[in-house]
Amino acid sequence: MQEKGTISIHTENIFPIIKKFLYSDHEIFLRELVSNAVDATQKIKRLSSLGQYKGGLGELRVEVAFDKDQKTITISDRGLGMTADEIKKYINQIAFSGATEFVEKFKDSKDANELIGKFGLGFYSAFMVAEKVEIQTLSYQEGAAPVRWFSDGSTEFELTDGTRSERGTDIILHVNAESEEFLEESRLREILNKYCSFLPVPIKFGTKSESEPDGEDEEGKPKSKQVEVDNIINNTTPIWTKSPSSLTDDDYIRFYQELYPFAEEPLFWIHLNVDYPFNLTGVLYFPKVKKDMDLKPNKIKLFSRQVFITDEVKDIVPEFLMLLHGVIDSPDIPLNVSRSFLQADGNVKKINTYITKKVGDKLSELYKKDRKAYEEKWPDIGLFVKYGMITDDKFFDKGKEFVLLNNTKSEHFTLDEYAEKVKPLQTDKDGNVIYLYATDPGKQDSFIQSAQARSYDVLVMEGPLDNHFISHLERKLEKTQVKRVDSGTADTLISKDETIASVLTEDQQASVKTVFEKTITKPGMNVAVESLSPDELPVTITMDEFMRRMKDMAAMGGGGMSFYGSMPDNYKVTVNGNHPLINRILSLEDETEKSKLARQAFDLGLLSQGMLTGAELTEFVKNSVSTLTGSKN
Ligand code: ADP
Repeated sequence: MQEKGTISIHTENIFPIIKKFLYSDHEIFLRELVSNAVDATQKIKRLSSLGQYKGGLGELRVEVAFDKDQKTITISDRGLGMTADEIKKYINQIAFSGATEFVEKFKDSKDANELIGKFGLGFYSAFMVAEKVEIQTLSYQEGAAPVRWFSDGSTEFELTDGTRSERGTDIILHVNAESEEFLEESRLREILNKYCSFLPVPIKFGTKSESEPDGEDEEGKPKSKQVEVDNIINNTTPIWTKSPSSLTDDDYIRFYQELYPFAEEPLFWIHLNVDYPFNLTGVLYFPKVKKDMDLKPNKIKLFSRQVFITDEVKDIVPEFLMLLHGVIDSPDIPLNVSRSFLQADGNVKKINTYITKKVGDKLSELYKKDRKAYEEKWPDIGLFVKYGMITDDKFFDKGKEFVLLNNTKSEHFTLDEYAEKVKPLQTDKDGNVIYLYATDPGKQDSFIQSAQARSYDVLVMEGPLDNHFISHLERKLEKTQVKRVDSGTADTLISKDETIASVLTEDQQASVKTVFEKTITKPGMNVAVESLSPDELPVTITMDEFMRRMKDMAAMGGGGMSFYGSMPDNYKVTVNGNHPLINRILSLEDETEKSKLARQAFDLGLLSQGMLTGAELTEFVKNSVSTLTGSKN
């Protein structure tokens, strides 16, 4: 048999386009060809099990070999093979139309990068790296003859008698000059590991034995026998293909380590398994994150029938779960389309919802099963739960059940439990329940103590998302306000009806105010004299909750907040008119002495807010020493 022909085409110069624009993703040729070989192998298995193929299957595996001298890469399978007619149909027409379709889409696409690499080019991707491609194949069909197909990447092809004696197909690539990197063992192994590690048919990787068993080479040295690189590179039954009931914790942990060799053990995992209304399997792991969000996203790997596709799962996994690890395998996610199409895809939306629900169910289950263990994991889990509740309303409703608040005494409460706990004491005169929190319990200690002196509870909100979480809570919970413990004096934080009588007359209050206003030169300090309990500090410096929150958000780059970022800091200086020290200041005759004590009281206020630093701190220490010594300066 000898046949020549021209591949029917609509677009001239298709190969130059493929070569040029797929530059960055050339390596996928191997994924495509190995996938085809695996498909052909699966097909013969199916035919055999259906009784449509009666011959022996033999050892079913795919082999990838390379020959540096001949500059070839060969992908061989013992699949169903092709007859001459099938080659004409599948390779000359169908495969080619796939490539043509790519080029057509490519022409219309506004962003070429979106398309490249998402579009499985199939068989013709071979021409990205090869100047000539040869197929040697023998069909499983009775009486079939071996066939050879050959093309030099132009639109011409040759179809002749082949040499293959066993059922199956060899795809032989004659690697082009620019693609010689793919003749390196390490490069090929890297690509196989990336895309083919979990294919369902064993993949053997090795060099073609390229030298005579004995003899001498041109330089007269004895030829060394080529060391055979010979091993199966893949795990054909990764755990996501198995039934959860057949797996132990160890299996999941071992698989995690296979995926991420250097990672710490995961906290827990979720096995995904659904076949209606879409097909999806996978295992998602919760990694240990702690407070610092130092984890890179994009750790979830997306597979389609065990072929690795990408680790950019941005539109498939809900944003708040991007920090999870693991694998998702779904043939129902369209891979060869642009991003915007993906976002609008019905299956993708359903998958998103499904994953969110599964994560919610798992958290709820863990919470109910062993609350204590759940609390211990909370520092790691909390971040996901809060992020989810902030960004996803449905998840907020679910998360209400298992989100935990923890206080300065390291006790944990659900939202309902906490509301019950603080309602009796922390309801203000307008009926609002006030939650108090600290972002830095060490620094805010004096404020925490004065809140606790009134038996108020103080939450700890020191996580990177807590700022947003607090605002979100306030919006969601009825008649509840959340205030940082140092945003007011304990009495103003939760204003009650009972007022503390003032020791000072109005005139005296005005006079105290003047003393402090004259003494304080720092900008942005607004003095007010109030009657607090004598147990409170003589001077308390606070920043309004709203203002501070806006500033914090501006600092984190919150949209539309930059206005607040540029505002100067503004503080309230509350002078406690009922404190004995203030009385003493009033009773002094000497203006300088008055001012000196006022300065010190103010500095103490700054000090307990961690705001006294540098030269001011040095000055304060000096003044205190002189006051304690009793010297007059
Ligand atoms: P796709 O795999 O998406 O169908 P390809 O261009 O990769 O597109 O392949 C076209 C067709 O060629 C396949 O559907 C299959 O029928 C046939 N084919 C490709 N490679 C092989 C192979 N190794 N063995 C048998 N048939 C193959």
